[in-house]
Amino acid sequence: MTKKTHSELSKDLVSWYNECSSRALPWRSDSPDPYKVWISEIMLQQTTSQAVISYYQKFISLWPNVKSLSKATQEEVNEAWQGLGYYSRARNILKCAKIIVSEYNSTFPKNSLELIKLPGIGPYTSSAIASICHEEQCGVVDGNVLRVYNRLLGESVEWWKPDFHKKTQVFSNTLCCFEKKPSEVNQALMDLGATVCTPKSPTCMLCPIQQFCMSKKKNLQKILPIKKQVKPKEIWLYEVYKNEGTQVDEDLSKNKSLEVCIHKNQPFLKKNLLPLGRFTKLKEPPKTFSFRHSITNNSIFVDFVKPLKNKKPTNRSRNMTLKELGRVTPSSLIKKIWQSHEFHETI
Ligand code: SF4
Repeated sequence: MTKKTHSELSKDLVSWYNECSSRALPWRSDSPDPYKVWISEIMLQQTTSQAVISYYQKFISLWPNVKSLSKATQEEVNEAWQGLGYYSRARNILKCAKIIVSEYNSTFPKNSLELIKLPGIGPYTSSAIASICHEEQCGVVDGNVLRVYNRLLGESVEWWKPDFHKKTQVFSNTLCCFEKKPSEVNQALMDLGATVCTPKSPTCMLCPIQQFCMSKKKNLQKILPIKKQVKPKEIWLYEVYKNEGTQVDEDLSKNKSLEVCIHKNQPFLKKNLLPLGRFTKLKEPPKTFSFRHSITNNSIFVDFVKPLKNKKPTNRSRNMTLKELGRVTPSSLIKKIWQSHEFHETI
């Protein structure tokens, strides 16, 4: 792409953003708050804006600024994060808030090079905060931008490889250099990927940059980007020891407890407390099980068995109520276990 093409492309993107797009999202504003942009961008990793809005609003009502967040406990943050998955993000958010309060006088650093030093803030988030809040000329690259750029080029490339990521970063940075407001270039790219150049059915007729798109010219929009070979899921049988004598109760305020521990060689939710039981790796899904649950690359088949008294890791286990456990291991897997009648059955 020539310099002229980059310049025209960024102009068309910004005009479209101001005239047609500019989605009304609760973290967007004429004077963006770095704290709110940060929280939204962390939540938006791996999910869509629509799915994030209610979590974001609840989070901001609990902790409206970085100072209030820095005083929260990890358990409280985990509880507010419940349902968003990838709990390392909840841990990094609290770590980062504490550092900003103690080392930066509660003010977010203004440039991407300083922001990227903070826990949980990578190249994408640092560029998003610095460009949206301070108009730094740094482009953003996420899944949406990779897809748009790949389609613009109209080439069958391994878009998940670092080389293509670097090329896309150069493209995105260059677009930002041609406009006074890099914030608008970046948000236009984000919006274009989310609403027009979508993964399955791009609406090219509405696309502000269609005249530059090689995929449209070659009619490759639905073929590109090429599909990435996905790693096969690992299959696990998680035989949970029954919590005999208790009863299914969804009222989490009631003080019924279950026995949990951090298992040795736990294959998923590592370093998190889980109900007592044993894990077996399988080649094929089991024929009988109570329910199935997925966590990243693990397909987990849960069954309930009578506890093996001698093998119980009693030295490492403890009793917790479901509410307490939800605060340290905020996974819906535990809630499903508790809600299963078989968990409470007496043999
Ligand atoms: S013309 Fe179509 S494929 Fe090309 S960038 Fe626009 S929406 Fe995507």
